[in-house]
Amino acid sequence: MVQTSTGSLLLNEPLARYTSWRVGGPAERLYIPAGLEDLRGFLSSLDKQEPLVFIGLGSNLLVRDAGVRGTVVLMHAALTGLRMDDKQVFAEAGVTCAKLAKFAARQHLHGAEFMAGIPGTVGGALAMNAGCHGGETWDVVQQVLTLDRQGECMCVSVRSLKLLTVM
Ligand SMILES: Cc1cc2nc3c(=O)[nH]c(=O)nc-3n(C[C@H](O)[C@H](O)[C@H](O)COP(=O)(O)OP(=O)(O)OC[C@H]3O[C@@H](n4cnc5c(N)ncnc54)[C@H](O)[C@@H]3O)c2cc1C
Repeated sequence: MVQTSTGSLLLNEPLARYTSWRVGGPAERLYIPAGLEDLRGFLSSLDKQEPLVFIGLGSNLLVRDAGVRGTVVLMHAALTGLRMDDKQVFAEAGVTCAKLAKFAARQHLHGAEFMAGIPGTVGGALAMNAGCHGGETWDVVQQVLTLDRQGECMCVSVRSLKLLTVM
């Protein structure tokens, strides 16, 4: 393991350790960020041609035995910020859906109950539009903070995303 200033970089790390089915060959590089700022710095330091994949809880992934070329970023247990502000819940991508559902219920907020049944992270739920019991992730999201390969953050409202889709 290579300790960077904050996050951890593991070389040839078997991805079977990070998927629900416990299968999958090694990632050339697996990075576990130590928070958003650290991830921003890491992404901006990567070669622009470097293949890059994100993993949440690995519950919707089948990784081949040959593994993954390039860099895999593990979000689960890495970006875990969860807070409430003005009747809105702010959850970082590595928070589990079950934890988010429980947190929202404790704040007497309705709408995220279905997330208790999804064995994934918030990032994975957004990527897959995970849903069950009649609820869907994107139906309960108001805005997302995206991060690009330059480490730049952008706050996007779901309303503007929908407009982009129909244009
Ligand atoms: C037993 C079981 C029950 C399930 N039940 C349901 C169900 O009821 N409803 C349902 O919808 N799904 C269900 N699933 C599927 C799975 O749990 C969901 O798709 C879940 O949203 C995956 O989240 P994850 O964090 O595990 O994502 P992963 O499996 O880690 O990744 C899935 C995809 O999302 C991408 N991704 C993950 N995090 C990020 C991120 N931060 N940024 C960008 N891309 C990202 C990955 O690259 C990958 O393409 C179930 C799975 C299992 C094993």
